[in-house]
Formats: sequence, structure tokens, C-alpha cells
Amino acid sequence: MSTPVIGWIGLGKMGHPMAQHLVNAGYPVTVYNRSKDKETGFGNTATSPKETMAGADIIFLMVSDDAAIHDLVQGPEGLLAAGVSGKLVVNMSTVSPHISREVAASLHKQGNEYLDAPVSGSVKQAQDAALVIMVGGPAAAFEQAKPVLEKIGRLVMRVGDHGAGNTAKLAINSMLAYHAQGLAEAVLLARNNGIATADLLTLINNSALGNPFIKIKGQAILDNNYAPAFALKHIAKDLRLAKHLGLATPLGQAAFDSFQHAEATLGEEDIIAIIKQL
Ligand code: NAP
Repeated sequence: MSTPVIGWIGLGKMGHPMAQHLVNAGYPVTVYNRSKDKETGFGNTATSPKETMAGADIIFLMVSDDAAIHDLVQGPEGLLAAGVSGKLVVNMSTVSPHISREVAASLHKQGNEYLDAPVSGSVKQAQDAALVIMVGGPAAAFEQAKPVLEKIGRLVMRVGDHGAGNTAKLAINSMLAYHAQGLAEAVLLARNNGIATADLLTLINNSALGNPFIKIKGQAILDNNYAPAFALKHIAKDLRLAKHLGLATPLGQAAFDSFQHAEATLGEEDIIAIIKQL
């Protein structure tokens, strides 16, 4: 295919910088976001998901959850309402494998293809085009999307058929929840026994346990800055989805419980705000 026309739906904290990379790479990009203010700065905008679908070859989705995907695909102004064929829809949101298989089947009936392509990495990696992208779906569709995905990620890897990307992502995010809670618990244990948080973090960051996540979230604790890069409500959602996949291990259950409890009061803050709950 010659240069594909891109439709991009969802300009939240992640979607905005990701779409911007495709504009910068020279692709013709039309964006759509439910709240129109987030479209500011993009040249071509669509008035609905339906219009985005009709006008593009590859349509990317980067929105919150299963409910958002359901609205955007099945809604009266949704992708299916366009009634077109020959399109490729790439869903980069963290959603359930179940909805991916459902959407893939509906799109297929109209003659369209679907990939689930969730990402590992947060806003910083999205800004740096350094996301890790895990893809579920047919190999031919993967090959079609890969050159575009490579403008957003540093690793683009197919892991199986529809829903496989989502499954891999939920496994990774369960581990992310353990990391966040583990850091918070270590800081609290040290602090309650007279060790300064800054000292503990210096030790951790110079040890084998130091990694970019611990560094960024440790700094957030030091700065008392819980503005969301990855909103706590999203990891609470991911742990619910992982539970549907069978997450029932000791750590899994503990993380599930604490993030579900924290969601009502801390859902709009960053994942590391779990320290306040603990
Ligand atoms: P966000 O900033 O909260 O943005 C959410 C986006 O979804 C917004 O564009 C929002 O539109 C849209 N949306 C929500 N419900 C909708 C609906 N019913 N219909 C249409 N649009 C709807 O979220 P984010 O941090 O960018 O995360 C997006 C996805 O990536 C999530 O699945 C998240 O789990 C995943 N993820 C996030 C991170 C991270 O660090 N932030 C990392 C990896 C993966 P409005 O602007 O109108 O609200």
C-alpha cells in the first residue's frame, strides 16, 4: 500500500503524543476526540468516529476502557455505522481480550480487519516514541500496521491472534501494580523506622532494583506530586480485567484489593498515590 491515510481516535494523555508522532512522520492524519478541546493543534479533525472510519485506511483507537470501545464501535456515530470495508482498525487501548474478539468479529462481517495493540510504557515513553507494543491479530494485518506502529514504539511484537495483545498487556500490568505497591510499602517501612525517603530511594536506584519506573515514581513520592501520568483508576480497571483472566495469586489478590479500595478516593491521581491508601 502507498502511504496509508491515518484516522486517530482518542487524544488523552497517551493518545495525544502518539498521534503527534504520526503527524511528524508525514502521514496524513485525521483526529477525533470526544471532548473537542483536546483536538487543538491538529490540522485535520473529524466530527465523529464514523467519519474518521470512512476517511482513513488505518484507524487507531486509544481510549480508556471496554465501555469507550463499545461506544466508539457500536454507537450510532460509531465505526460500524460508516458501513465501509477494507479498513484496518488498530486498538491500542488497554481493554479485555473479550471485547477485542467481539469487535474483530463485527468488523470482519463488514470486510474490515482488526488488531489489538496495547502498549507498555507511560506518558514519557509515549512522548519519546519508545513504547513497547504487543499485537494480537492476523499476521498480514500486523505487517500492514507495523511500519506505522514503529513510529510510536521501540518494540513492535506480534504475540498471537485477536486478544493476545490484551492478554499480554494485562499480565504486564499486574506486575506493574505489584511494583507500585512494593515501592510504596518499602518507603513506608523505612520511613516508619526512621530512614529518610530520599536516602532509601538513592539506595534503591543504585541497586539492582533501580529501574525507570521506580526512579520516576520514587521522585513523585519525594515531590508529593500525584498528578496522573497513569491514572490509578486505569490500573484498578486492568486488575479487574486480569481477574477475569484468572488472576488469583497471593500478590494478585492483594494488589486487586488495595487498588479497588483506593479507586473511589484516589482514582484520578497517579498509580503511585496508592502510598496514601497504604
Ligand atoms: P486518559 O488520559 O484518561 O484519556 C482517555 C481517552 O479516552 C480520552 O480521549 C477520552 O475522551 C476517551 N474516552 C473515554 N471514554 C470515552 C467514550 N465513552 N467515548 C469516547 N471517548 C472516550 O487515558 P490515557 O492515560 O491516555 O490511557 C488511554 C488508554 O491507554 C487506557 O486504556 C490506559 O489503560 C492505557 N494506558 C495508559 C498508560 C498511561 O501511563 N497513561 C500507559 C499504558 C496504557 P475525553 O477526552 O472526551 O474524556
